[in-house]
Amino acid sequence: MSYDPQPVASHYINGEHVEDAAGAEIPVIYPASGETIARVHAATPAVVEQALAAADAAKRDWAAMSGTERGRVLRRAADIIRSRNRELSELETLDTGKPLSETLVADATSAADALEYFGGLAGALTGEHVALPGGDFVYTIREPLGVCVGIGAWNYPTQIACWKAAPALACGNTMVFKPSETTPLCALRIAEILTEAGAPPGVFNVVQGMGEVGAALVSDSRVAKVSLTGSVPTGRRVYAMAAEGMKHATMELGGKSPLVIFDDADLDTAVSAAINGNFYSTGQVCSNGTRVFVQAGLVDAFCARVAERMKDAVIGDPMDEATTIGPMVSERQIGIVEGYIAQGKAGGATLVAGGERLDRPGFWITPALFRDVTDDMAIAREEIFGPVMSVMSFDTEEEALARANATEFGLAAGVITRDLARAHRMVAGFEAGSCYINTYNLTPVEAPFGGSKMSGVGRENSRAAIEHYSQMKSVYVALNAPEAPF
Ligand code: NDP
Repeated sequence: MSYDPQPVASHYINGEHVEDAAGAEIPVIYPASGETIARVHAATPAVVEQALAAADAAKRDWAAMSGTERGRVLRRAADIIRSRNRELSELETLDTGKPLSETLVADATSAADALEYFGGLAGALTGEHVALPGGDFVYTIREPLGVCVGIGAWNYPTQIACWKAAPALACGNTMVFKPSETTPLCALRIAEILTEAGAPPGVFNVVQGMGEVGAALVSDSRVAKVSLTGSVPTGRRVYAMAAEGMKHATMELGGKSPLVIFDDADLDTAVSAAINGNFYSTGQVCSNGTRVFVQAGLVDAFCARVAERMKDAVIGDPMDEATTIGPMVSERQIGIVEGYIAQGKAGGATLVAGGERLDRPGFWITPALFRDVTDDMAIAREEIFGPVMSVMSFDTEEEALARANATEFGLAAGVITRDLARAHRMVAGFEAGSCYINTYNLTPVEAPFGGSKMSGVGRENSRAAIEHYSQMKSVYVALNAPEAPF
């Protein structure tokens, strides 16, 4: 470990570090070793109140600033993040166990992209003018919502904090963010950086805690908007709580996405897409294409090539940049994955490669490739959130599309083929928010990201996110005397 990751304090509120040792202790465990590397405390009700009060008090002045001024703060934060990419990437690695080869390019950098993109957009957010007959007109004012609550999952703690904070703050909202209790460190650093970049106190606050802290935030009457990244069961609960207060909501939830590979595909393109869509971040990616439908004639060659390329995976010290596969995030998560692998074997799927827990401290498992998987097996239906690829065989395009859509989830979908007409037909038919042709799992900030069906509501990133962090006030202006019936 290159430095001590213990944060100054557990929470960050009103531009300051805040501690309250009365909150339950949350150990921060480095997944590569199983060691406790830091400790934070869950927010007590007093800390939750302090954070909400700070965000509420800050919202008026922050909203009153020009979009260009707010954008400058966000873009400065992006610059600071980029200049500290290595340090922030190491912290992300300590928090999550993901290898530096990933975190150096996918986490702080993605956070900076979001701050840069929405920082650039902030000054261009406007309403519109609508001409009406007779000279009357309507103009609209784009207004912030107020206090937003962000709640994060543990797989991308830096990225999730910024994918939520950047559009929220650009629109003139303030935010209280609760990271997952499993990865509490990174969001604190983002809060410090935003202050350094000029964000006024209270604009972005971080409180730690488990689900009950999240629930306390979501149900508070001062909160106008809730954005959750998490599982479908949590999403159901949080969405219901938000509905109770008629709050705006964005739900970025789980998935069991299909990746459909036709037999005309370039084999290595297909294999690369499947590897990226199943084993990146040790499979802990919501949009992963874990149901890999391969056209019958290509199944043997595909599985052989995946198994061969899996031999090149470097499983080892996440701080070594040559490492390509790190540990699972926690004992709990590796237990879930082991359970599914056992179910897959017992259910008659063929384990072609991997799927073994490594006998070393920490939460290590080799990526697993199953074939002969059928649509009814648990490994083909339920989100595993680990490195388990399930290969299923299909014959026709119609069949592949129907089976791809036969799921309650709808986060992402991919198609690999040299026939572009077929690719676009498939994409038109996919019931999924993010679709890929001849690649998988890329999430540039310019593109909307989010799910359909049970995978969520709303979109993050792109201009689409602006609609989820602002509302329109409509103003009718009469240039003619109103007509009244009497
Ligand atoms: P969880 O749903 O378990 O938790 C998500 C967050 O919600 C955590 O911070 C959790 O707190 C909090 N939470 C739990 N219960 C409540 C509650 N009742 N009220 C308010 N907040 C609550 O998800 P994981 O952290 O296990 O993350 C994995 C899941 O996230 C997967 O399903 C994955 O697909 C999904 N995900 C979706 C993404 C997307 O963009 N669509 C991206 C990344 C992940 P705590 O855990 O601290 O108790």
